[in-house]
Amino acid sequence: MQIVILTGAGISAESGLGTFRDKDGIWTRVNLEDVATPEGFARNPDMVHEFYNKRRSDLTTAKANPAHFALARLEQQIGQLAKRPADDSRFTLVTQNIDNLHQQAGSRSVIHMHGELLKGLCTNCDWRGEWSVDMQTDMPCPQCAHDGRIRPDVVWFGEMPYHMDEIFERLHSCDLFVSIGTSGSVYPAAMFVGEAKRAGAMTLELNLEPSENADEFNEGLYGPASEIVPAWVDKMIAASS
Ligand code: NAD
Repeated sequence: MQIVILTGAGISAESGLGTFRDKDGIWTRVNLEDVATPEGFARNPDMVHEFYNKRRSDLTTAKANPAHFALARLEQQIGQLAKRPADDSRFTLVTQNIDNLHQQAGSRSVIHMHGELLKGLCTNCDWRGEWSVDMQTDMPCPQCAHDGRIRPDVVWFGEMPYHMDEIFERLHSCDLFVSIGTSGSVYPAAMFVGEAKRAGAMTLELNLEPSENADEFNEGLYGPASEIVPAWVDKMIAASS
């Protein structure tokens, strides 16, 4: 069985990290054009740094929740199955989240299509590396030493998400596609369900409530991620053992 899982902000909501589009979501308080576009960064880098510095500091206290741990268990189980002769089992976890909670829960292989909050990127020399402290406009790049060119290594609106070739290759060969805690309104992630279906996969949505593209899925299970994800993973593991 080849499984592709896509997670979004909803899986981290119960860990205390706000979602974007919900009733009290982050986009009700800040303008996304100001803090999540290259143009916004060019206009006011201080404001953008302040926004991501707050998100980065929230991460220092956020703890992975049972949904993140359950996906780490599933990865481990599929990894065991894949060791059997002639077994083509494969587990792929793609996240839109820029937090590190999947890794904190023990997931070993995570594709961060929208980048990572704990990484920095230099727009002068393309340096990319770990970044855990507050970012300021006048900071020099650790590689080229240019001042003022460091930005968070996150994908903004209007930019190309990372690892798209690998993600589409996985979608085109999967048997099961599962979307967890995502509103289905951000592209290209919102089109993954269609790609997987065209490849013949069964598709399942796990979310607090039906997402904007819920009707594209074969099945939906609704409730808080910390409850419905572990219950679904337990069933998957029982069925495959
Ligand atoms: P979104 O804010 O658009 O949607 C969140 C979805 O999660 C909604 O459908 C909502 O119903 C669902 N949800 C809320 N609480 C839930 C819970 N307890 N259990 C299950 N589902 C729950 O988020 P998205 O679809 O991921 O949107 C896209 C963008 O938001 C991404 O680009 C992502 O990078 C970014 N984002 C990331 C984080 C993070 O890294 N933790 C946080 C906020 C936003």
